Amino acid sequence: MIQYELNCNFPNQHYIQFKAIFPVNESVTILKLSVWRPGRYELGNFAKNIRNFRVYSSQNKSIEFKKIDKSSWEIHSENESEIFIEYEYFASELNAGSSFLDETQLYVNPVNCIFYSDNSKDEEYCLKLNIPSNWEIATSLKIEDSSLLASNYEELVDSPFICSHDLAKETYEVEQIKFHIWFNKQKFIDWDRLKKDFVRFTQKQIQAFGHFPANEFHFLIHSLPYAAYHGVEHLNSTVITLGPSYDIFGSQYNELLGVSSHELYHVWNVKSIRPKEMYPYNFEKENYSSLGYVYEGVTTYMGDLYLLKSGVFNLSTYLNELSKQLQKHFDNSGRYNYSVAQSSFDTWLDGYVQGAPGRKVSIYTEGCLLAFVADIMIRKAAQNKFGIEEVMKRLYVDIAQQEKGYEQADYKRILEDVSGLCFDDYFENYINGTRPYDELVMNALNYLGLELVQKPSSLYSESKLGFKVLSKGKNFLVQAIHPQSPAASGGLSLGDEIFAVNDIRLNGDLNQWLQYFDSEQKSLSLSREGRIMNITLTSSVNFYYFDYKILLSNLITGDQMNNLRYWGEEGIDF
Ligand SMILES: [Zn+2]
Repeated sequence: MIQYELNCNFPNQHYIQFKAIFPVNESVTILKLSVWRPGRYELGNFAKNIRNFRVYSSQNKSIEFKKIDKSSWEIHSENESEIFIEYEYFASELNAGSSFLDETQLYVNPVNCIFYSDNSKDEEYCLKLNIPSNWEIATSLKIEDSSLLASNYEELVDSPFICSHDLAKETYEVEQIKFHIWFNKQKFIDWDRLKKDFVRFTQKQIQAFGHFPANEFHFLIHSLPYAAYHGVEHLNSTVITLGPSYDIFGSQYNELLGVSSHELYHVWNVKSIRPKEMYPYNFEKENYSSLGYVYEGVTTYMGDLYLLKSGVFNLSTYLNELSKQLQKHFDNSGRYNYSVAQSSFDTWLDGYVQGAPGRKVSIYTEGCLLAFVADIMIRKAAQNKFGIEEVMKRLYVDIAQQEKGYEQADYKRILEDVSGLCFDDYFENYINGTRPYDELVMNALNYLGLELVQKPSSLYSESKLGFKVLSKGKNFLVQAIHPQSPAASGGLSLGDEIFAVNDIRLNGDLNQWLQYFDSEQKSLSLSREGRIMNITLTSSVNFYYFDYKILLSNLITGDQMNNLRYWGEEGIDF
């Protein structure tokens, strides 16, 4: 067994103090820290947060060690049966995948900060937590006294925990499985409404797969005082950050439902149904996979769709969410340059930042829309008997439950078996290619009696000049430029900070002044890389950025209505 002790001596400095005892049986032991965390397919290099690492023997004698790469420590362990290590971890970041310590809480994602060796991966871990006696512990791990127990490294690093004096918990049960909802620091909680909604989408998801991969499940929700929206999936829990707290049961409630349903779906799709390249996870390096359109795309699509199918969302709420994905799709010219499969491979390069403009696409957005297209292709062919949920069920039963990883060929074969259709074109041109698939989306919408309404953006800068901005005080930062627009040909650059139009100092009113000078040339005063300059833009008769919205057609036929009901189930209540 590997014994760990965690101390929080100087919480305001955000350093967690670790002590550990590793059993050893070789003359050289290599202790490693993971370089990434499951759920985020890019390098995290958590070793950058380690300070004061030292090793000593059972006689308290210093043992020599050296680092042999950025995340591995080589230790001379001859003549020892166990080694003692000490180090500190800088836990100052609070998101759904990080670790954080302050005076009020200890929140740990063990993959950030717990060591392993190749020989010790199957050993049990015991983490003794030295925390204030009035703090509770929220986790899916087994708790004995104030110690957490994990049967091996993989279980431990997929089981985050929150210790705090401000935890609230309620439990609900579906199919004899207990689901625990924890909130950290949320004053007002509408438990009745929350549990009713959670029961509904949980039931629908379990029904679709016929089995839940874990014995119980924990939603660990951090309520934050500032705007936040992030979730990370784990084997039998999820960590979610949301904020600001006063909005969680107000305007953010649909986001809470959306992220929770998405993370629950991941228990099957990625924690169980896992790409071959990640089965098992390799914590030492990148786990490249082109299948992000399945593990994030299908999850994005199904997470929201189960809210509709279970009646938690009505059709108009659901269509708002799907419209947002289409909006992101059309706004990103990267779709002409890089496929969703290539973009998935490259999450390890720059998957979580905007990066070079027009270079790549989102596995969430394109994966969701292509999952929608596949779902409707199947429904059409199977006369609404089933859709993509049947494909995911077979991936789960035929591959995941047989303890295997899947490949693109497996996904394609099952899509074809379930639908009786050929998916060559779908994979060649749309998953692995960059051919526009707008028409496929329109056809799928039409099958359900839905239509896409496209209007020029109501913002002058977007529709007539072709650039998007973010406000910064009274000024505006350029966030996106349409490649064929007056903004592009007129010399505007990403990151430009616009502060005047035709010599009028802006006061948070860029679009009002652009509209005012509609028929004239517009001289923009801006700051770029520390220099002040002017550029002149002329509006053209064309429109560049549009607003997209999916609506129920007024002319919906009986057949379309029927298709819509099979697809949306309890959410279609008219
Ligand atoms: Zn996800």
